[in-house]
Amino acid sequence: MDATEPQATSASESNASEADRDVAVQIANVTKEYGDVTAVDDVSLNVRDEEFLTLLGPSGAGKTTLLHMIAGFVTPTRGTINIDDVDVTHKPPYERNIGMVFQSMALFPHMTVGENIAFPLKMRRFDHDRIDERVQEMLDLIRLPEIRDRNVAELSGGQQQRVAIARGLAFKPSLLLLDEPLSSLDKKLREEMREELLRIHREAEVTTVHVTHNQEEALTMADRIAVIKEGEIAQHSSVQKMYSRPNSAFVADFVGNTNMLPGHVATVNEQRFSVDFGDDIVSTCQPSVVDTDPVADDQVTVGVRYEQVQIDERLDTDNAYNATVSDVIFMGDVINYKAEIDSLGVEVNISELNSKDVDVFERGDAVQVGWEDDDTLVYSS
Ligand code: ADP
Repeated sequence: MDATEPQATSASESNASEADRDVAVQIANVTKEYGDVTAVDDVSLNVRDEEFLTLLGPSGAGKTTLLHMIAGFVTPTRGTINIDDVDVTHKPPYERNIGMVFQSMALFPHMTVGENIAFPLKMRRFDHDRIDERVQEMLDLIRLPEIRDRNVAELSGGQQQRVAIARGLAFKPSLLLLDEPLSSLDKKLREEMREELLRIHREAEVTTVHVTHNQEEALTMADRIAVIKEGEIAQHSSVQKMYSRPNSAFVADFVGNTNMLPGHVATVNEQRFSVDFGDDIVSTCQPSVVDTDPVADDQVTVGVRYEQVQIDERLDTDNAYNATVSDVIFMGDVINYKAEIDSLGVEVNISELNSKDVDVFERGDAVQVGWEDDDTLVYSS
């Protein structure tokens, strides 16, 4: 992580980077009100050509409403939506050239796989030979070339999901919308399908907007993530930037696993400042990762990622505290600890990569936990 990079305090990446890439979808000042409820609140967002953009947020944040406005199922109360430079704000879904895959998959159970994939092509009056050819191309794309005549009810969950994607892409849409596409699958299949979806996205070269409440799914799949909170965009940036520079305590807490420690600013100088967690337990921090300029006595929250907290008998990190191990969960590749900082009574979580060089601690062990200044995220509370 580059701690010298200035902190991005705006919700979106600069427009300068947009200029380098073609914009496929332009959402400008879009609001959706349902009576007193503002589901989406003045959202502006660009989707770049061929990128995989994930809308991530807790339940009720407004993700589905935003996706449905792009699809044309819901009309914005205010604002405009352009797709490929055409204003589609008031166009019905069938005039938008958009493929969609839902959580429920919504395949037609009385049709074969081939008939399901052919359906949107028939609706668009493709000629018979072209439909035949395109269905086979789609079956090859999803690597299930032999299931054309099978009934969809006979397929596994993963196969059904692939067929739903093939149907969504059959008519070469300019945009693919994925609404929680993996949440009905079990964990193992979900992980397999993530890779499969990304492969298909790459091969089909289709701009994709994906909705999920699952941060791991967002981190592993997206080029960029837009975190939505209460109808607004909290942060819109590349996955790497969002992880290393979350612009608010909400994003730091929602994306990745972060210890959030409340304290107040003790001293400030140009190079670094310190936060007092109480009882004179002070942590030094980098000013460059603060979302406001701190002054003495400001209430702040210091965030430290689980994997940035170190644990050992003795540490020489910038910040190190005596602690007692309160829990150990052995995950194989990773060991997750909880340890209580003795003088504070505050518990911190630690994720340590397991290798033959690390000491494994047990509950009750006296240890030190600590972190480097550069690894702190500091937010006004
Ligand atoms: P998410 O997809 O992030 O879970 P939604 O977009 O479904 O969130 O919902 C955002 C907010 O808008 C919620 O408060 C929800 O209750 C409200 N909402 C969504 N659709 C409707 C509707 N058709 N009528 C009234 N309120 C709605």
